[in-house]
Amino acid sequence: MNINEFGKMIDGETPTDKMPLLFVGHGNPMYAISENKYKKAWEEMGKNLPHPKAILCISAHWLTNGTSIAMTDKPKTIHDFGGLPKELFDVQYPAPGAPDYAKMAASSIQSIKVHEDFEWGLDHGAWSVLKNMYPQANVPIFQMSIDYQKSPQYHFNLAKELAGLRSKGVLIISSGNVVHNLGMIQWDANSQPYDWAIEFDNLVKKSIEENHPVPLIEYQKLGKIASMAHPTNDHYLPLMYTLGLRDAKDNFQFFNDSLDMGSMSMRSVLFS
Ligand code: ZN
Repeated sequence: MNINEFGKMIDGETPTDKMPLLFVGHGNPMYAISENKYKKAWEEMGKNLPHPKAILCISAHWLTNGTSIAMTDKPKTIHDFGGLPKELFDVQYPAPGAPDYAKMAASSIQSIKVHEDFEWGLDHGAWSVLKNMYPQANVPIFQMSIDYQKSPQYHFNLAKELAGLRSKGVLIISSGNVVHNLGMIQWDANSQPYDWAIEFDNLVKKSIEENHPVPLIEYQKLGKIASMAHPTNDHYLPLMYTLGLRDAKDNFQFFNDSLDMGSMSMRSVLFS
């Protein structure tokens, strides 16, 4: 069966109400397992959202040349970090893959040729959040990579081709951070956020409130605050997918909207 036939097969299913959209700030990998307010919010989110048929996760930690979609039926848990406690390396999140939905996603993208991937599993940008949202690991998950050569505008546009998945029961979660400067992190528990971090975070909030994504797509025009908030834009680009997929009729709700360790924003947003 080729990709288009798979797409048609799933198209034949009864359409569901439109699934919400999430952008989640994942932050420090330890938040996956330590007791902290972000983890609690992820747990609550999982309990309160409509149960998805599958999850598409677009994570800051899968960067590629071109765009790949993971077709694996048993994605492995990837421990893509160093210098952290063994208990974090011991985490396994055995959620099944979603090859049928992954094929549907690939066939819905017409503007580029998507690479079908059979190697990638779930990176920590995905599992640190998802294991808390769905601790029973009972929702099939597939990831799509971020073409790291491309502009924010490119990702914003590409996202729109995935819009149909929302009415097929697929919850699309982008995982990154709206402010992310690891070099400036303060480990002191009494750390105060930098002015540029507050300013950039507020700009994201305002643009979302006004449904005016242009300043965020063109964030590099903001100069110093942009380069301080994102010395590299790997954790920023996932937001472009959420903004591109946003429907004008969606309501929005911020959560985990606090600045962490001086230079990281955990601001997350639910569109529903
Ligand atoms: Zn990260």
